[in-house]
Amino acid sequence: MNLDPIDRVGCPIRSAVSSRLGWDSTNLSALRPVFILSIAVSFFAALPSFCQTTPTAPAPTPTTAPDQQPHGKVIFSRSTEDNGQTTTTTGPAAPKSAGQPVSAPVATDAEREVLTFTAFDMDVHLRPVAQQIAVRALLTVRNDGHTPLAHIPLQISSSLDWENIRIAGRDLTFTVATLNSDVDHTGRLHEAAIALAAPLAPGATLALDVTYSGTIPQSAQRLITIGTPDDAALHTDWDTIAIDFTGLRGFGNVVWYPVSSVPVILGDGARVFDEMGEHKLRMAGARFRLSLTDEYPHGQAPTVALINGHRVPLALTEPSTAGPEVPGIAAASLDQPALGFEAPSLFLAVLTAHQATNTTLYTLPEDDSAVEGWASAASYVTPFLQGWLGQAPRSQLTILDLPDPEDAPFETGALLVTAIQQATPDELDGVFAHSLTHAFLCTSTSSPPAWLSEGVAHFMGTLWIEKQQGRQKALESLESGREALALAEPASPGESSGQPLAQAISPVYYRSKAAYVFWMLRDLAGDAALSAVLRGYSPADDPARSLSPPGGPDSTTSSAYFEKLIEKARASSGESSSLGPKPDLNRDLSWFFTDWIDADKGLPDIAIDGVFPSHTEGDNWLVAVNLSNSGYAAAEIPVTVSNAAASVTQRVIVPARGKATQRILLQGQPIKVQANDGTVPETEASIHIRNLDGSGGDLPSTPHAADQQ
Ligand SMILES: [Zn+2]
Repeated sequence: MNLDPIDRVGCPIRSAVSSRLGWDSTNLSALRPVFILSIAVSFFAALPSFCQTTPTAPAPTPTTAPDQQPHGKVIFSRSTEDNGQTTTTTGPAAPKSAGQPVSAPVATDAEREVLTFTAFDMDVHLRPVAQQIAVRALLTVRNDGHTPLAHIPLQISSSLDWENIRIAGRDLTFTVATLNSDVDHTGRLHEAAIALAAPLAPGATLALDVTYSGTIPQSAQRLITIGTPDDAALHTDWDTIAIDFTGLRGFGNVVWYPVSSVPVILGDGARVFDEMGEHKLRMAGARFRLSLTDEYPHGQAPTVALINGHRVPLALTEPSTAGPEVPGIAAASLDQPALGFEAPSLFLAVLTAHQATNTTLYTLPEDDSAVEGWASAASYVTPFLQGWLGQAPRSQLTILDLPDPEDAPFETGALLVTAIQQATPDELDGVFAHSLTHAFLCTSTSSPPAWLSEGVAHFMGTLWIEKQQGRQKALESLESGREALALAEPASPGESSGQPLAQAISPVYYRSKAAYVFWMLRDLAGDAALSAVLRGYSPADDPARSLSPPGGPDSTTSSAYFEKLIEKARASSGESSSLGPKPDLNRDLSWFFTDWIDADKGLPDIAIDGVFPSHTEGDNWLVAVNLSNSGYAAAEIPVTVSNAAASVTQRVIVPARGKATQRILLQGQPIKVQANDGTVPETEASIHIRNLDGSGGDLPSTPHAADQQ
């Protein structure tokens, strides 16, 4: 038994995967233990083999419409042919797949890129004892391209097989190709390509009725292929269908629902992660219905089910008279009017529920002892979140215990999936400040766009640090993400379009930049107004979530709704601000939304061009501070002049590619001028200090270094 600490540095893919998935390294890394426990070995050893060859006779062409097939009882047969192609069939007279295997894909990247899924209506049957899944899905797809679409490409994990595809009640012929793509844990996708009799016109939609099935055992093939050690790979790629724990995280981990994507491989820069972000953005707004039927072995009923991170009630039917060999049936469903920025996911587990403040923890028996610490962190952090986000969260946080303590954590909406174990109160408080924020913002069927959902969660995490450890530590925490942001930002808007925050696909934008944006809004609008907006924001009312063709008249993937809420809150916050200094309510904030949220203009680059103190009367000094901004985004920054006895701070807007002069009156001779305090992210550094006693120049510095000057 190997009990050596895992060499995480030696596993760049794993850290790449977890950091790219948007984890806040300051809180969730605390949950990563350093030992492999023996459970890991038995867990993986328990995975059955799927390589048996059971040839079956060719079945006749299907004559039964999928909607006439019996529901609730799934009978599988599975064959593996000499060439490695597998076929899974459903039902006693199950149809053989109508797909023709082809060695080269028929669909092109251009076709894959423009297909948007606008509605899913899925009937999902699970048989965890054999790790099987069988799905019938009614899909609506739209051609978002500019030219007619000749083929409809539909992809699923390579451990699943296409059975039948119908349009308007008619079976279609289609080809099936295996693509190498690391958006699935197997590293491959099965792509069906439907040749349309009449091409799909730009903007037109098409209703498809598809069936597919197969098994989803754990697979780390994509990571092992690029040299990740098996253990580490399996702790990252833990998606599986199993009796005690079924976890299907969706596109980027396991493609258990039909998608259309451009094949990408790990090791090719950030392309897999960019594709994951694109997928979530394109899915946002799609209608999603799922009806789940799970055949569980006698006495091993699941205790919790989550669809897309939303907990759904389980209806259990335990056969009363039949013997123990007859399975029980668990049923659940979700009707989600519009997906948020998310990849559809499905979780089903046999775990013990523990109630905590606004939270339910589902644990393995061996982790029960850690529950107390987690529960007290939830109750400790809640009053702070209530102060900002309102008395009652819109939904409850669910935390699911992962089968192995080494398994990498995952979050979607108000669901956190992580190995529950002992951790220090500080570590757990940080986790709950972030994760409970999601519960405050998500409703039982909807979640805000990413820059609000993840941005506010990260923002609340930094406010928690400010409350516990002071402003300096909070600014350092922000600063730790600035360099990566500055690298990602286009140097000038002409160089690349970057990622407007409202359509961002990368965590460095929708998490790091968004957190800065909320810090800046705090200064621009005041704590009271910002808090009022966060309380009043309703994801269901935000038109940015509507799914409309790119560039279409209704394409409103913007911050307009949020901006309106801010203006309203500022107008009504009046004198009642108790959370901080009252800002000037007459200022127009539209420049801020234009430069920081609706377009990506990169970061500002501020410099102190000159400081001109003049002695006026008595002990008074008037200090003129000349500032310039060589970036393409305007910024409002605090400017402070100080001496040993006094300091005065005023806020000044420095226009993009422009200059500004601020005159500040100070009692006593000024000795220092500081521009920006770290709350406005800049290209190079976010604090500039000019000493007036002759030492130093315009010294840009980080919040940390500024301490020492
Ligand atoms: Zn989050």
